[in-house]
Amino acid sequence: MTISTVNPATGETLRTFDALTEGEIEAKLQRAVDAFAVNRARSFADRATRMRAAADALDARKSDLGKMITTEMGKPVKAAIAEVQKCALVCRYYADNAEKHLADEHVQTDAADSFIRYQPIGPVLAVMPWNFPFWQVFRFAAPALMAGNVGLLKHASNVPQSALAIEEIFVDAGFDAGEFQTLLISASQVERVLDDERIKAATLTGSEPAGASVASTAAKRIKKSVLELGGSDPFVVMPSADLEEAVKIAVKARIVNNGQSCIAAKRFIVHEQIADAFERKFVAAMEALKVGDPMDESTDVGPLAMPQIVNDIEEQVRKSVDAGARLATGGKRLGGNFYAPTVLADIPQSAPAYGEEIFGPVASLFRAKDADDAIRIANATTFGLGASVWTNDREEAERFINGIESGQVFVNAMVASDPRIPFGGVKHSGFGRELGVFGIREFVNVKTVWLA
Ligand code: NAP
Repeated sequence: MTISTVNPATGETLRTFDALTEGEIEAKLQRAVDAFAVNRARSFADRATRMRAAADALDARKSDLGKMITTEMGKPVKAAIAEVQKCALVCRYYADNAEKHLADEHVQTDAADSFIRYQPIGPVLAVMPWNFPFWQVFRFAAPALMAGNVGLLKHASNVPQSALAIEEIFVDAGFDAGEFQTLLISASQVERVLDDERIKAATLTGSEPAGASVASTAAKRIKKSVLELGGSDPFVVMPSADLEEAVKIAVKARIVNNGQSCIAAKRFIVHEQIADAFERKFVAAMEALKVGDPMDESTDVGPLAMPQIVNDIEEQVRKSVDAGARLATGGKRLGGNFYAPTVLADIPQSAPAYGEEIFGPVASLFRAKDADDAIRIANATTFGLGASVWTNDREEAERFINGIESGQVFVNAMVASDPRIPFGGVKHSGFGRELGVFGIREFVNVKTVWLA
């Protein structure tokens, strides 16, 4: 894939970049090693000052950065600006909490004193996707830099300007040039970088094939990896739920980021007692969405990021209908990268919409006989990222919390990431955690110290 900005709303190629040469990669790797020596020696307070300056820079530039994000990947501009603000939040969260999360932990043993010390490990490679081009990067970078590591970013090839702007934010905030560097490289150059002894670990957010490739390269070199992969999150609605609120949030949870979010609700599993009412209200709300120019603040759904995504969705919907699914609304292209908000129902197990991830504004509806049946359908996918459950019965909620195979369960709320709590998946959604205390402890040496 060429490294370029192609406006998904118009199809126009705005900028193209050359991939780094071997010599340029080499220079950046060495700069990362040199910068690690500086950052690891800094106090938490010193790192925090810079991290807060990065947060201030994000806040100050949120409008311009938001427009750039929208131009590169097509999300509605209001959401793009909110994404930049959320990045400032994660910078401040780790500026405030890194020292506490990584403080020595004393453990009572037979020793006079024994404790755990968390130490940084060095340069970490982050391979990131385009769908939240700032947030995905900052939720890696803020804890990594606050822990004393340094970061190298291989961003998705369609968001090079976002990648360069993030590096600029850190440099402007006072970080050394080598502490956070963007590598404009193709996916095929990732193995060469990760093979290098100077890179100590890798994190990847993206698809299963990319994750498997990066994790196996890391494993061959005995390096740690964290994977944040796809999802086909269930959204379960039970009879005791507030139906109006559940429908409102269901629509929001499906179309977030034009439907291209790993934790978007994708499969709506509704108790049969309320299934007809849910479908009627949900379809009406999906049909009422405004699809159009993502720069217009009143737009709900913009274009999909790349033509290939529209092709993929079109095929998944077509195959699902061919397999027997009922098209309740949508199911068509609207020109360019635009695709109509779509609802599929009565989906047989053989249809792609049953368990696959559909990365666009397409909702799959299922009917469940009871809570056990809902859990069975929720778990009938290879993924296990998030789950949203709507019930006002506390005991029933407990059954879902325990029974659904996922990295997070949200009750009467849509799944969302938050700097204060861990985020990640099970099954094919990946391993390891970002955010919260667990996120900052992924790329550290957990060193045991025993003083006899
Ligand atoms: P993708 O193709 O896997 O791309 C993600 C990143 O990996 C890009 O930087 C890409 O570079 C790179 N890449 C692709 N193939 C690679 C390979 N063989 N070796 C090394 N690097 C490789 O992902 P996508 O389809 O654009 O993104 C959507 C996926 O990400 C969805 O499945 C979504 O659910 C998932 N996602 C997960 C989370 C989470 O937190 N769990 C968050 C957001 C998205 P190029 O662009 O140069 O190909």
